[in-house]
Amino acid sequence: MQAAVFHGNDRITIERVPMPDVGKGEVLVRVSRTALCGSDFKLWHKGAEFTAGHEIFGVVEQRGHRLHGRRCAVYIPLHCDRCAACQRGDTQMCLEVSSLIGWNRPGGYAEYVPVPENCLLPVPNDIEDSLAPLLLDTIGTSGHAVRFVGRVVSPADAGPVLVMGAGPVGLGVALALRALGYDDVHVADPNVARLRIA
Ligand SMILES: [Zn+2]
Ligand SMILES: [Zn+2]
Repeated sequence: MQAAVFHGNDRITIERVPMPDVGKGEVLVRVSRTALCGSDFKLWHKGAEFTAGHEIFGVVEQRGHRLHGRRCAVYIPLHCDRCAACQRGDTQMCLEVSSLIGWNRPGGYAEYVPVPENCLLPVPNDIEDSLAPLLLDTIGTSGHAVRFVGRVVSPADAGPVLVMGAGPVGLGVALALRALGYDDVHVADPNVARLRIA
């Protein structure tokens, strides 16, 4: 298959690499889209040991598997589902496994990526391919943050809410706030183009 190799010194090449091994409890995902993330800049400059890309959307391609053909986004923290942290729902802090797809193991800037079954997030058909990766860093991170806020100040008790910064995550926060019932949302950013989007 083809994969993007991050060599460092701002050099990336597309190369033929072997198909990845698919471990026990994993499936192969044919990558449709992987979004560029600000944190990829570091790998662009410094190089990457593994195939980069961690905002991944694709289709399960594992013949005979019950999820074959399913459109999925990829939740990148590996997790066991059994330890105390996982049982609490804090799978990103799993006590048993500590690995991130696209960082400590191959990621999405390739034609195929092996993904543990419990990292597959099915994507509804009314969300188009190009938007699907935004469910991860942009909306996932923001939704998670706003849910935390909700435990402290519920929408019913909230006054005006100020979002500092209209970058991808800030815009996601604005959307998540509205979706979760916060009506009076304000956004601050020195960048006029971004403010206009907000
Ligand atoms: Zn990211
Ligand atoms: Zn765990």
